[in-house]
Amino acid sequence: MIEFKEVEKLYQNGVHALKKMNLHISEGEFVLIIGESGAGKSTLNKLITREEKATGGEVIVNGFNLSSLKEKDIPSLRRSIGMVFQEFRLLSKMTVFENVAFAQEAIGIPLDLISDNVSQALATVGLDSKADYFPKELSGGEQQRVAIARAIVNRPNIIVADEPTGNLDSKTAWEIMSVLEDINKQGTTIIMTTHNQEFIKHTTKRIIVMDHGKMLRDDKGKVLTS
Ligand code: ADP
Repeated sequence: MIEFKEVEKLYQNGVHALKKMNLHISEGEFVLIIGESGAGKSTLNKLITREEKATGGEVIVNGFNLSSLKEKDIPSLRRSIGMVFQEFRLLSKMTVFENVAFAQEAIGIPLDLISDNVSQALATVGLDSKADYFPKELSGGEQQRVAIARAIVNRPNIIVADEPTGNLDSKTAWEIMSVLEDINKQGTTIIMTTHNQEFIKHTTKRIIVMDHGKMLRDDKGKVLTS
C-alpha cells in the first residue's frame, strides 16, 4: 500500500517538484504514471523508494512512514520494493544468473537457497535457458527481462518501473508489459512511468497524469481518449 498525503518536494535548488500530492495505491494495483518531462514522475518514484525525502506531508509505503523513517530502516523498506529502470542497469561482467543472484546475496539469503530462487525468477520472465549468458549477448528485451527477474527475486510486493520500455521497440515493449502483467497477477503492485503512447491508448489500467508537480488526472480503469 502506498499513500501520499499532501506531499511536497522542494529541491534545494528551489525547484518545487511535487505540490500537495495526494495519492492512494492499493495492494495489487497496476498504475501507469504519465506526464511531460519535468512533471515530477521520477520524483514520485524516488519518494516511494526513499531515494529522496519529502519536504512536506507524509509518504507511507508498506506500513513504513517514510517521513520519519530512520536510516537504519531504509534497507527493510527497499527489500519490499523491486526497481526496474529504462537502461536496465545490469552488471556487464556478470552472467544473467549472477546478476539476479547478486540481489539475493546483497540481503544475505543463504547460498543454498539462492540457486532455486534465481531459477524461479528467470523462469517467470522466460529466460531460464539463458542463465549463463552475459548481458551483451542478449537483446534489449531480454536484458530488461533479466532486470525484472532481479527486481522480483527477493519477492517484493511493489515494483517501481521507471520507463521500462523506453529503450525498446514496440513489439518488445508489449512483451515486457505482458511480463509485468503476469507478475501483477500474482499480487505484486506495479507503478510504471511511461511515454509509450500505444500503452496509454489501449490500456484499461489506472492512469495518473502528472503536470508541473501535480496530479492532473487519475483515471481508474478508463481508456483515455484525449
Ligand atoms: P519527470 O520524471 O516527470 O521528468 P522529475 O521528477 O525528474 O520529472 O523532475 C521534476 C522537476 O524537478 C524538474 O524540474 C527537475 O529538473 C527537478 N529535479 C529533479 N531532480 C532534481 C534534483 N535532484 N535536484 C534538483 N531538481 C531536481
